[in-house]
Amino acid sequence: MITCSAQTVHTNNIKIREISSGSPQASSSRSPQEWQSILSHAVTEPEELLNTLGLNPDLLPGAVTASQSFRIRVPHTYIARMEHGNPDDPLLKQVLPISDEMVEAPGFSHDPLGEQPKNSQRGIIHKYQGRLLLMPGSLCAVNCRFCFRRHFPYDDNKLNKEEWQSALEYIRQDASLKEVILSGGDPLVQNDRRLKWLIEELANIPHLQRLRIHTRLPVIIPQRVTDDLVNSLTSTRLKSVVVIHSNHPNEIDHTVSAALSRLYRAGVQLLNQSTLLKGINDNAETLAELSEVLFHNHVMPYYLHLLDKVQGAAHFEVSEEQARKLVGDMSQFCSGYLVPKLARETAGMPSKTIISPTYHSI
Ligand SMILES: *Cc1c(COP(=O)(O)O)cnc(C)c1O
Ligand code: SF4
Repeated sequence: MITCSAQTVHTNNIKIREISSGSPQASSSRSPQEWQSILSHAVTEPEELLNTLGLNPDLLPGAVTASQSFRIRVPHTYIARMEHGNPDDPLLKQVLPISDEMVEAPGFSHDPLGEQPKNSQRGIIHKYQGRLLLMPGSLCAVNCRFCFRRHFPYDDNKLNKEEWQSALEYIRQDASLKEVILSGGDPLVQNDRRLKWLIEELANIPHLQRLRIHTRLPVIIPQRVTDDLVNSLTSTRLKSVVVIHSNHPNEIDHTVSAALSRLYRAGVQLLNQSTLLKGINDNAETLAELSEVLFHNHVMPYYLHLLDKVQGAAHFEVSEEQARKLVGDMSQFCSGYLVPKLARETAGMPSKTIISPTYHSI
């Protein structure tokens, strides 16, 4: 659907304004607004999610309580890949609030990565050498229950015009930076016009070589991979790397495949990061299948993250010992390049920490 009008899409805490080009020839069958419409119609009430999937209403009170501290958000494109009537569906479990989130777990904090003290320049987290996170906005296409940013004060990170200039100035001033990582929230929630502007600004900074985007949108709403987005990523002098976030092979259906294919064919380097999640992907077969499916779709496995110890996510934790075994087992029946690096992020460390798998002889 192509419209020529200005359209304002309201979501819960942001307003996205997108003006279409009005030129049907310039666009393909993927309307620039389709993804925004899908995003604005995402399920934000636990009851609607349970009803849509035909789940037991007994789950409702826990879901309602848990969603008060971190709201539920799930687009229908993602729900469509869940199994009807299955409360243990591995996609559902990533997004359905449950009463376990209310349990105070020792060692789990509100800011496990120590990001808030580093956040002196608004919109920027600069912890590692040569690269930094630039966060254009606060919204995600989906609210993942295990997310380490569930308590992050995003409202403080919405940039106005001066703050944009000041963030860009920070990057301009530091010639040791080679790579800017757009992160968030999900940076692809920004509209194509804003992203195009941002990518052009970054490309004008001579010491930058790479643009990396950390995003779950190609997985959650694959319609987000518009022609304009692909053009912005490939018409710049910067090398573009898109790091998607997929945790389970069921997440990659034909619509996601098609979106990944568009990026790949245009020359974008594709990587994946996953989080190891109890009851969702904590077995070697599932992890191996995920790697196989990703590679089939031109995506190289990058990181498998141990859960960040954020309050409300303790029920997703897989122990380090168990994780090392899982990756060791996976290495037995996976090509070496399909085994992701098991990583933990520790506050105050100059990089992520890679954890070696444990192997046992046959
Ligand atoms: C993960 C992360 C990066 C990127 O790390 P890589 O190991 O290069 O993928 C950069 N900055 C911050 C703050 C991070 O958390
Ligand atoms: S930042 Fe990533 S993991 Fe966290 S809620 Fe957003 S999409 Fe999910």
